[in-house]
Amino acid sequence: MWYLAGLGIDILHFEPFAPFGRGSGFPESEVNPDDYVRGFAEALDVAAECGVSVTEFGLFHLQMPRNQQCFAHYASRFVVNPDGRLTFCLGAQDDNTQPGNMLGVGTPDIDMGTVHFEVDKVRRLQTGFNVEKIEWCNSCSAKHLCCGICPAHNILRTGDAGSPDSRLCSIRKGILREALLQMWKHSAAVEDPMRET
Ligand code: SF4
Ligand code: SF4
Repeated sequence: MWYLAGLGIDILHFEPFAPFGRGSGFPESEVNPDDYVRGFAEALDVAAECGVSVTEFGLFHLQMPRNQQCFAHYASRFVVNPDGRLTFCLGAQDDNTQPGNMLGVGTPDIDMGTVHFEVDKVRRLQTGFNVEKIEWCNSCSAKHLCCGICPAHNILRTGDAGSPDSRLCSIRKGILREALLQMWKHSAAVEDPMRET
């Protein structure tokens, strides 16, 4: 990380391996949740020392809690695959498996040179993955930060977009704990100018 900071890079995004899209076919790349959380906590400390910001999907909602699971609709974006198919999902792009199909929002007509864009499906997907509907997450304190992980990932792991992957659930809880602890440590170290001496 020091090397990257020396090159002028000031933000690094970390992510546990995802078994779909570009990750399809590499099951050996799975991480152990405890190892990932431990490594992430170390990365936070090193990043603070060398002035680099660290991001992770599990932390994206820290400043803006919400209840929608999927990140794709942040900017109403979608992915154009090389074969012309459009998908709502940034991760399951170039993927003809169940998540790729579930999140597909457009098909090309090569002969006509056009794309059929499924506007109604996009609208459904933009609101369809609500953490309030997930029983597993009901009493979780990180509910509006994690939002029940990711529909594509959950489908591959559990067969259901609304049933979170327990392995990623423990990673999410772990990295949120570490990030909040680090924020607290740093703010506690800054002297409060309003405090009477
Ligand atoms: S389904 Fe998951 S990977 Fe795909 S865009 Fe939504 S949050 Fe990202
Ligand atoms: S950390 Fe686990 S229980 Fe909490 S919102 Fe995420 S998936 Fe649900």
